[in-house]
Amino acid sequence: MKFNPANNIQDLQYFGEFGGVNPSISDSSTYTFLSAKTMFDTFEGNADGCYLYSRHTSPSNLYLGEALAAMEGTETANVSASGMGAITPVLLQLCKNGDHIVSSRTIYGGTYAFLKNFTPRFNIETSFVDITKLEMVEAAITQNTKVIYCESVSNPLLEVADISALAKLAKKYNLQLVVDNTFSPLSIAPAKLGADVVIHSLTKFINGASDTVGGVVCASQDFIDQLRNVNDGASMLLGATMDSLRAASVLKNLRTLHIRMKQHSYNAMYLAKMFEADGLKTVYPGLSSHPSHELFKSMMNADYGFGGMLTIDVGSIDKANDLMELMQQKNLGYLAVSLGFYKTLFSAPGTSTSSEIPEDEQAEMGLTDGLIRFSVGLDNDIQRTYVIMKKCMKELNILESAMV
Ligand SMILES: *Cc1c(COP(=O)(O)O)cnc(C)c1O
Repeated sequence: MKFNPANNIQDLQYFGEFGGVNPSISDSSTYTFLSAKTMFDTFEGNADGCYLYSRHTSPSNLYLGEALAAMEGTETANVSASGMGAITPVLLQLCKNGDHIVSSRTIYGGTYAFLKNFTPRFNIETSFVDITKLEMVEAAITQNTKVIYCESVSNPLLEVADISALAKLAKKYNLQLVVDNTFSPLSIAPAKLGADVVIHSLTKFINGASDTVGGVVCASQDFIDQLRNVNDGASMLLGATMDSLRAASVLKNLRTLHIRMKQHSYNAMYLAKMFEADGLKTVYPGLSSHPSHELFKSMMNADYGFGGMLTIDVGSIDKANDLMELMQQKNLGYLAVSLGFYKTLFSAPGTSTSSEIPEDEQAEMGLTDGLIRFSVGLDNDIQRTYVIMKKCMKELNILESAMV
């Protein structure tokens, strides 16, 4: 039977204390025990169903975690206060002093900064490679390598990782494959393709309301237990725990993710096709011109499309800024970082979300000055949006100068 992440989420039933259709929110940081022995067992992690302290676990966080594990098809999951609060403990749990990571060079700016500038303090070194070139990934593996790290669809260049092939490589060298799936929830299920650990920034599509940050690690029970271990678990000890009230709120938004992803993908596909036909250099995995179009197709759950992210190149940072300001004036979207909102969000990654990456490296990876990243919104009438966008581009002479 086909893996159906949205069905898996919907099939979970959690009732509230008074028969509520939503689970009750645990509005407590600490929990009482009738017996001192049970308290000890709970602290040691040996009393299932008991709660001790909300940094360890809380009912609301467990509900959300189980729903996200059902979505990714992993045994369980651990939610965190942000996406970075999921990524950093995973890498610190898997690597110790002297270990090595092979990472895609096109990743979220914060993750890049963590691997480039922060983990070397612990003598954990990272080789950044073009993740679409498997021979380069393999060549970068050393005796000390512990992890292959990538994003299923990369930020901001929308490169697509061949997760099955990377999983094979990881197996061959006894490494853990860690995949950040923030850009392609429901569309791609990395664990089903062999990834060991799947991470999301819940801040983006999954919550979809741009009202909070949040994260999750979806993995085996064994690995999640390690992360939560009171003695040496990185999630437990670094303490980036999600608040229960927020977990309840994210779970409610997760209920509509499948409908939203379909609309994000539909709208992004429409704009990508029109932009490309207008002669703009357009990158969208749904276009047959995308170098990994066929690969994405082979991995995807077709119901949810190629996602809501696309980029265009308008030639220069000045043009990019003018266009974004004009589009915002015309109420087509907001000049803002982040993604997955109902409204279209646009930003120039070179000067915002990827500014942690030095300019010469940006150039090498094809991150050009005139690049605009769109997180396409849930517009009810994307044709109307496109017509106004095109007017903006004409007004700024962008279509003439950016013709490929
Ligand atoms: C935003 C983002 C992150 C970081 O998540 P936060 O919730 O901001 O901590 C990590 N990876 C990707 C791909 C992202 O887009």
